[in-house]
Amino acid sequence: MPDTATVSSESEFSGHAHVAAPPPAGVDVRHDWSLSEVRALYELPLLDLVHKAQTVHRAVFVDNKVQLCSLLSIKTGGCPEDCSYCPQAARYKTGVKAEKLMAVPDVLDAASKARAAGATRFCMGAAWREVKDGPQFDSVLEMVRGVRALGMEACATLGMLSESQAKRLREAGLSAYNHNLDTSPEHYGDIISTRTYEDRLRTLNRVRDAGISVCCGGIIGMGESVDDRCNLLRTLANQEHHPESVPINALVAVEGTPLQEQQRVETVDMVRTIATARILMPQSMVRLSAGRQQMNDEAQLLCMMAGANSLFFGEKLLTTGNPEYTQDMALLEKAGIRPLEPRQEG
Ligand code: SF4
Repeated sequence: MPDTATVSSESEFSGHAHVAAPPPAGVDVRHDWSLSEVRALYELPLLDLVHKAQTVHRAVFVDNKVQLCSLLSIKTGGCPEDCSYCPQAARYKTGVKAEKLMAVPDVLDAASKARAAGATRFCMGAAWREVKDGPQFDSVLEMVRGVRALGMEACATLGMLSESQAKRLREAGLSAYNHNLDTSPEHYGDIISTRTYEDRLRTLNRVRDAGISVCCGGIIGMGESVDDRCNLLRTLANQEHHPESVPINALVAVEGTPLQEQQRVETVDMVRTIATARILMPQSMVRLSAGRQQMNDEAQLLCMMAGANSLFFGEKLLTTGNPEYTQDMALLEKAGIRPLEPRQEG
Protein backbone atom coordinates (compact mmCIF):
# COMPACT_ATOMS: atom_id res chain seq x y z
CA MET A 1 0.00 0.00 0.00
CA PRO A 2 1.75 3.16 -1.18
CA ASP A 3 0.60 5.82 1.18
CA THR A 4 -0.77 4.68 4.47
CA ALA A 5 -1.93 8.02 5.76
CA THR A 6 -3.92 8.92 2.72
CA VAL A 7 -5.08 5.48 1.79
CA SER A 8 -6.31 4.66 5.25
CA SER A 9 -8.40 7.77 5.26
CA GLU A 10 -10.08 7.01 1.96
CA SER A 11 -12.90 4.60 1.55
CA GLU A 12 -11.38 1.15 1.62
CA PHE A 13 -11.97 -0.82 -1.51
CA SER A 14 -11.68 -4.54 -1.33
CA GLY A 15 -14.70 -5.79 -3.14
CA HIS A 16 -17.06 -3.66 -1.05
CA ALA A 17 -16.60 -0.13 -2.23
CA HIS A 18 -18.75 1.36 0.48
CA VAL A 19 -16.85 0.12 3.53
CA ALA A 20 -15.41 3.47 4.53
CA ALA A 21 -12.69 3.78 7.14
CA PRO A 22 -13.97 5.58 10.23
CA PRO A 23 -13.41 9.34 9.95
CA PRO A 24 -10.81 10.93 12.22
CA ALA A 25 -12.04 12.40 15.51
CA GLY A 26 -13.84 15.68 15.04
CA VAL A 27 -14.81 15.01 11.42
CA ASP A 28 -18.52 14.70 10.94
CA VAL A 29 -19.72 12.33 8.20
CA ARG A 30 -23.45 12.88 7.73
CA HIS A 31 -26.13 11.79 5.30
CA ASP A 32 -29.01 13.98 6.45
CA TRP A 33 -28.18 17.48 5.27
CA SER A 34 -31.02 19.93 4.79
CA LEU A 35 -30.97 22.47 1.99
CA SER A 36 -30.78 25.37 4.44
CA GLU A 37 -27.75 23.83 6.17
CA VAL A 38 -25.95 23.34 2.86
CA ARG A 39 -26.83 26.83 1.73
CA ALA A 40 -25.61 28.31 5.02
CA LEU A 41 -22.22 26.69 4.37
CA TYR A 42 -22.12 27.73 0.70
CA GLU A 43 -22.83 31.35 1.62
CA LEU A 44 -20.32 31.73 4.44
CA PRO A 45 -17.81 34.53 3.95
CA LEU A 46 -15.40 32.98 1.44
CA LEU A 47 -12.38 32.79 3.71
CA ASP A 48 -14.41 31.28 6.55
CA LEU A 49 -15.74 28.67 4.14
CA VAL A 50 -12.27 27.86 2.79
CA HIS A 51 -10.88 27.68 6.34
CA LYS A 52 -13.61 25.29 7.40
CA ALA A 53 -13.11 23.11 4.32
CA GLN A 54 -9.34 23.14 4.72
CA THR A 55 -9.68 22.10 8.37
CA VAL A 56 -11.81 19.10 7.38
CA HIS A 57 -9.48 18.33 4.50
CA ARG A 58 -6.36 18.39 6.67
CA ALA A 59 -7.92 16.11 9.26
CA VAL A 60 -8.72 13.47 6.67
CA PHE A 61 -6.01 13.86 4.05
CA VAL A 62 -2.87 14.51 5.98
CA ASP A 63 -0.41 15.06 3.18
CA ASN A 64 -0.01 17.26 0.15
CA LYS A 65 -0.99 14.84 -2.54
CA VAL A 66 -3.36 15.03 -5.44
CA GLN A 67 -4.69 12.28 -7.62
CA LEU A 68 -3.98 12.85 -11.31
CA CYS A 69 -6.74 11.51 -13.51
CA SER A 70 -6.47 10.95 -17.17
CA LEU A 71 -9.36 10.32 -19.51
CA LEU A 72 -9.35 8.68 -22.88
CA SER A 73 -12.38 8.91 -25.07
CA ILE A 74 -12.58 5.33 -26.34
CA LYS A 75 -15.72 6.00 -28.36
CA THR A 76 -16.28 9.58 -29.40
CA GLY A 77 -19.40 11.34 -30.64
CA GLY A 78 -22.66 10.18 -32.16
CA CYS A 79 -24.43 9.90 -28.79
CA PRO A 80 -28.23 9.66 -28.97
CA GLU A 81 -28.75 11.52 -25.66
CA ASP A 82 -29.54 15.24 -25.49
CA CYS A 83 -27.38 16.51 -22.59
CA SER A 84 -27.43 20.26 -23.31
CA TYR A 85 -23.78 20.79 -22.42
CA CYS A 86 -22.32 17.96 -24.47
CA PRO A 87 -20.58 18.33 -27.84
CA GLN A 88 -20.80 14.56 -28.35
CA ALA A 89 -24.57 14.50 -28.67
CA ALA A 90 -25.32 13.58 -32.29
CA ARG A 91 -28.15 16.08 -32.49
CA TYR A 92 -25.97 19.19 -31.95
CA LYS A 93 -23.80 20.66 -34.69
CA THR A 94 -20.52 20.91 -32.85
CA GLY A 95 -18.13 19.47 -35.40
CA VAL A 96 -17.47 16.35 -33.30
CA LYS A 97 -17.50 13.35 -35.63
CA ALA A 98 -18.91 10.00 -34.57
CA GLU A 99 -16.10 7.47 -34.29
CA LYS A 100 -15.95 3.73 -33.69
CA LEU A 101 -14.85 2.10 -30.45
CA MET A 102 -11.05 2.17 -30.25
CA ALA A 103 -9.07 -1.05 -30.53
CA VAL A 104 -7.90 -2.62 -27.26
CA PRO A 105 -4.11 -2.35 -27.96
CA ASP A 106 -4.45 1.36 -28.80
CA VAL A 107 -6.25 2.01 -25.52
CA LEU A 108 -3.64 0.12 -23.53
CA ASP A 109 -0.87 1.98 -25.30
CA ALA A 110 -2.47 5.26 -24.22
CA ALA A 111 -2.82 3.96 -20.67
CA SER A 112 0.90 3.14 -20.52
CA LYS A 113 1.72 6.66 -21.66
CA ALA A 114 -0.56 8.14 -19.03
CA ARG A 115 1.08 6.01 -16.38
CA ALA A 116 4.53 7.13 -17.48
CA ALA A 117 3.31 10.73 -17.12
CA GLY A 118 2.16 10.16 -13.54
CA ALA A 119 -1.51 9.24 -13.90
CA THR A 120 -2.69 6.86 -11.22
CA ARG A 121 -6.18 6.39 -12.52
CA PHE A 122 -7.09 5.84 -16.13
CA CYS A 123 -10.62 6.62 -17.12
CA MET A 124 -12.19 5.38 -20.34
CA GLY A 125 -15.22 7.22 -21.66
CA ALA A 126 -17.66 6.08 -24.32
CA ALA A 127 -20.40 8.31 -25.70
CA TRP A 128 -23.14 5.74 -25.29
CA ARG A 129 -26.62 6.05 -23.85
CA GLU A 130 -26.15 2.64 -22.25
CA VAL A 131 -23.93 -0.37 -22.49
CA LYS A 132 -25.05 -3.14 -24.84
CA ASP A 133 -23.90 -6.70 -24.30
CA GLY A 134 -21.83 -8.05 -27.17
CA PRO A 135 -18.39 -7.68 -28.75
CA GLN A 136 -18.03 -3.98 -27.88
CA PHE A 137 -18.69 -4.56 -24.20
CA ASP A 138 -16.32 -7.55 -24.29
CA SER A 139 -13.62 -5.23 -25.66
CA VAL A 140 -14.25 -2.76 -22.84
CA LEU A 141 -13.84 -5.59 -20.31
CA GLU A 142 -10.51 -6.45 -21.93
CA MET A 143 -9.44 -2.82 -21.69
CA VAL A 144 -10.29 -2.80 -17.99
CA ARG A 145 -8.25 -5.94 -17.38
CA GLY A 146 -5.35 -4.46 -19.34
CA VAL A 147 -5.34 -1.16 -17.43
CA ARG A 148 -5.37 -3.00 -14.10
CA ALA A 149 -2.49 -5.17 -15.27
CA LEU A 150 -0.52 -1.94 -15.74
CA GLY A 151 -0.97 -1.21 -12.02
CA MET A 152 -3.41 1.65 -12.47
CA GLU A 153 -6.91 2.18 -11.19
CA ALA A 154 -9.36 1.63 -14.02
CA CYS A 155 -12.39 3.83 -14.32
CA ALA A 156 -15.06 3.86 -16.98
CA THR A 157 -17.96 6.01 -18.03
CA LEU A 158 -20.21 4.21 -20.48
CA GLY A 159 -23.74 5.40 -19.76
CA MET A 160 -26.42 3.36 -18.06
CA LEU A 161 -25.59 -0.14 -16.86
CA SER A 162 -27.61 -3.24 -16.05
CA GLU A 163 -26.94 -5.23 -12.90
CA SER A 164 -25.13 -7.99 -14.75
CA GLN A 165 -22.98 -5.52 -16.69
CA ALA A 166 -21.93 -3.85 -13.45
CA LYS A 167 -20.96 -7.26 -12.05
CA ARG A 168 -18.96 -8.16 -15.16
CA LEU A 169 -17.10 -4.86 -14.99
CA ARG A 170 -16.29 -5.53 -11.36
CA GLU A 171 -15.08 -9.03 -12.18
CA ALA A 172 -12.80 -7.55 -14.85
CA GLY A 173 -11.29 -5.38 -12.09
CA LEU A 174 -12.97 -2.04 -12.66
CA SER A 175 -12.03 0.28 -9.81
CA ALA A 176 -14.57 3.03 -10.32
CA TYR A 177 -17.48 3.99 -12.50
CA ASN A 178 -18.27 7.58 -13.38
CA HIS A 179 -21.88 8.56 -13.77
CA ASN A 180 -22.68 12.15 -12.87
CA LEU A 181 -25.92 13.52 -11.52
CA ASP A 182 -25.02 16.71 -13.42
CA THR A 183 -27.30 19.09 -11.49
CA SER A 184 -30.10 19.25 -8.95
CA PRO A 185 -33.22 17.10 -9.40
CA GLU A 186 -35.18 20.36 -9.91
CA HIS A 187 -32.94 21.76 -12.67
CA TYR A 188 -32.31 18.43 -14.37
CA GLY A 189 -35.27 18.59 -16.76
CA ASP A 190 -33.91 21.81 -18.27
CA ILE A 191 -30.66 20.08 -19.17
CA ILE A 192 -31.54 16.54 -20.27
CA SER A 193 -34.77 14.98 -21.45
CA THR A 194 -33.69 11.60 -22.79
CA ARG A 195 -33.16 9.95 -19.40
CA THR A 196 -34.36 10.70 -15.92
CA TYR A 197 -32.66 11.50 -12.64
CA GLU A 198 -34.07 8.20 -11.41
CA ASP A 199 -32.30 6.37 -14.28
CA ARG A 200 -29.07 7.88 -13.07
CA LEU A 201 -29.62 6.96 -9.46
CA ARG A 202 -30.50 3.41 -10.52
CA THR A 203 -27.22 3.00 -12.41
CA LEU A 204 -25.32 4.41 -9.43
CA ASN A 205 -26.96 1.85 -7.14
CA ARG A 206 -26.05 -0.98 -9.50
CA VAL A 207 -22.45 0.19 -9.56
CA ARG A 208 -22.38 0.42 -5.78
CA ASP A 209 -24.03 -2.98 -5.32
CA ALA A 210 -21.46 -4.58 -7.61
CA GLY A 211 -18.70 -3.35 -5.29
CA ILE A 212 -17.33 -0.72 -7.66
CA SER A 213 -16.34 2.72 -6.35
CA VAL A 214 -18.73 5.45 -7.35
CA CYS A 215 -17.47 8.56 -9.10
CA CYS A 216 -20.32 11.04 -9.23
CA GLY A 217 -20.53 14.79 -9.33
CA GLY A 218 -21.93 17.55 -11.44
CA ILE A 219 -21.48 20.64 -13.52
CA ILE A 220 -21.99 24.23 -12.46
CA GLY A 221 -22.61 27.14 -14.76
CA MET A 222 -25.60 25.65 -16.59
CA GLY A 223 -28.02 28.41 -15.58
CA GLU A 224 -28.81 26.85 -12.21
CA SER A 225 -29.66 28.78 -9.04
CA VAL A 226 -27.62 28.67 -5.83
CA ASP A 227 -30.31 26.39 -4.41
CA ASP A 228 -29.80 24.04 -7.38
CA ARG A 229 -26.08 23.91 -6.71
CA CYS A 230 -26.68 23.23 -3.05
CA ASN A 231 -29.31 20.61 -3.87
CA LEU A 232 -26.92 18.79 -6.17
CA LEU A 233 -24.34 18.66 -3.37
CA ARG A 234 -27.02 17.68 -0.88
CA THR A 235 -28.24 14.83 -3.12
CA LEU A 236 -24.68 13.54 -3.41
CA ALA A 237 -24.02 13.84 0.32
CA ASN A 238 -27.32 12.33 1.42
CA GLN A 239 -26.79 9.07 -0.44
CA GLU A 240 -26.38 6.11 1.87
CA HIS A 241 -22.68 6.08 0.98
CA HIS A 242 -20.84 9.12 -0.25
CA PRO A 243 -19.36 8.74 -3.73
CA GLU A 244 -15.67 7.92 -3.39
CA SER A 245 -14.94 10.56 -6.05
CA VAL A 246 -16.85 13.77 -6.62
CA PRO A 247 -15.92 15.59 -9.83
CA ILE A 248 -16.90 19.25 -9.81
CA ASN A 249 -17.01 20.60 -13.34
CA ALA A 250 -17.39 24.15 -14.58
CA LEU A 251 -19.31 24.27 -17.82
CA VAL A 252 -17.16 24.74 -20.87
CA ALA A 253 -19.73 26.25 -23.22
CA VAL A 254 -19.28 24.64 -26.62
CA GLU A 255 -20.56 26.26 -29.77
CA GLY A 256 -23.42 24.33 -31.26
CA THR A 257 -24.78 23.07 -27.92
CA PRO A 258 -27.88 24.62 -26.33
CA LEU A 259 -25.69 26.04 -23.54
CA GLN A 260 -23.29 27.79 -25.92
CA GLU A 261 -24.22 31.26 -24.62
CA GLN A 262 -23.62 30.52 -20.93
CA GLN A 263 -21.17 32.81 -19.19
CA ARG A 264 -18.05 31.30 -17.68
CA VAL A 265 -18.37 30.30 -14.04
CA GLU A 266 -16.56 32.64 -11.68
CA THR A 267 -13.68 31.21 -9.73
CA VAL A 268 -15.35 32.16 -6.47
CA ASP A 269 -18.35 29.97 -7.37
CA MET A 270 -16.08 27.02 -8.13
CA VAL A 271 -14.26 27.52 -4.85
CA ARG A 272 -17.51 27.70 -2.91
CA THR A 273 -18.84 24.54 -4.58
CA ILE A 274 -15.63 22.60 -3.96
CA ALA A 275 -15.34 23.76 -0.34
CA THR A 276 -18.96 22.84 0.38
CA ALA A 277 -18.46 19.43 -1.25
CA ARG A 278 -15.39 18.88 0.92
CA ILE A 279 -17.27 19.68 4.13
CA LEU A 280 -20.29 17.57 3.16
CA MET A 281 -18.26 14.58 1.97
CA PRO A 282 -15.07 14.70 4.04
CA GLN A 283 -13.65 11.36 2.89
CA SER A 284 -14.31 11.67 -0.83
CA MET A 285 -11.77 12.65 -3.43
CA VAL A 286 -13.08 15.98 -4.70
CA ARG A 287 -12.00 16.48 -8.28
CA LEU A 288 -11.35 19.76 -10.03
CA SER A 289 -12.49 18.69 -13.46
CA ALA A 290 -13.72 20.37 -16.62
CA GLY A 291 -13.06 24.07 -16.65
CA ARG A 292 -9.68 23.76 -14.97
CA GLN A 293 -7.86 24.76 -18.16
CA GLN A 294 -9.69 28.06 -18.13
CA MET A 295 -8.36 28.89 -14.65
CA ASN A 296 -5.08 30.53 -13.82
CA ASP A 297 -2.60 28.97 -11.37
CA GLU A 298 -3.85 30.95 -8.39
CA ALA A 299 -7.47 29.96 -8.96
CA GLN A 300 -6.47 26.30 -9.17
CA LEU A 301 -4.46 26.56 -5.96
CA LEU A 302 -7.42 28.18 -4.23
CA CYS A 303 -9.59 25.24 -5.32
CA MET A 304 -7.01 22.88 -3.82
CA MET A 305 -7.02 24.90 -0.60
CA ALA A 306 -10.79 24.52 -0.59
CA GLY A 307 -10.40 20.75 -0.62
CA ALA A 308 -9.89 19.59 -4.20
CA ASN A 309 -7.44 16.69 -4.09
CA SER A 310 -7.88 15.22 -7.50
CA LEU A 311 -7.14 16.88 -10.82
CA PHE A 312 -8.58 16.01 -14.13
CA PHE A 313 -6.03 16.13 -16.92
CA GLY A 314 -8.23 14.95 -19.75
CA GLU A 315 -6.08 13.51 -22.50
CA LYS A 316 -3.14 15.77 -21.66
CA LEU A 317 -1.38 13.07 -19.72
CA LEU A 318 -1.32 10.98 -22.85
CA THR A 319 1.11 13.32 -24.55
CA THR A 320 3.86 14.19 -22.10
CA GLY A 321 5.96 17.12 -23.04
CA ASN A 322 3.10 19.19 -24.30
CA PRO A 323 3.25 22.73 -22.88
CA GLU A 324 0.05 22.49 -20.86
CA TYR A 325 1.23 19.30 -19.19
CA THR A 326 4.59 20.82 -18.34
CA GLN A 327 2.89 23.91 -16.94
CA ASP A 328 0.57 21.81 -14.76
CA MET A 329 3.45 19.79 -13.39
CA ALA A 330 5.43 22.96 -12.69
CA LEU A 331 2.51 24.38 -10.73
CA LEU A 332 2.28 21.26 -8.55
CA GLU A 333 6.01 21.31 -7.96
CA LYS A 334 6.05 24.99 -7.02
CA ALA A 335 3.28 24.35 -4.53
CA GLY A 336 5.00 21.26 -3.10
CA ILE A 337 2.10 19.05 -4.10
CA ARG A 338 2.90 15.49 -5.12
CA PRO A 339 0.92 13.01 -7.19
CA LEU A 340 -0.89 10.32 -5.24
CA GLU A 341 0.10 6.75 -5.97
CA PRO A 342 -2.65 4.36 -7.04
CA ARG A 343 -4.51 2.45 -4.38
CA GLN A 344 -3.82 -1.26 -4.24
CA GLU A 345 -7.17 -2.84 -4.71
CA GLY A 346 -8.39 -6.38 -4.37
S1 SF4 B 1 -24.74 10.70 -22.42
FE1 SF4 B 1 -22.65 11.41 -22.23
S2 SF4 B 1 -21.82 11.45 -24.33
FE2 SF4 B 1 -24.06 11.29 -24.48
S3 SF4 B 1 -24.77 13.41 -24.71
FE3 SF4 B 1 -24.86 12.92 -22.52
S4 SF4 B 1 -22.86 13.57 -21.68
FE4 SF4 B 1 -22.68 13.47 -23.94
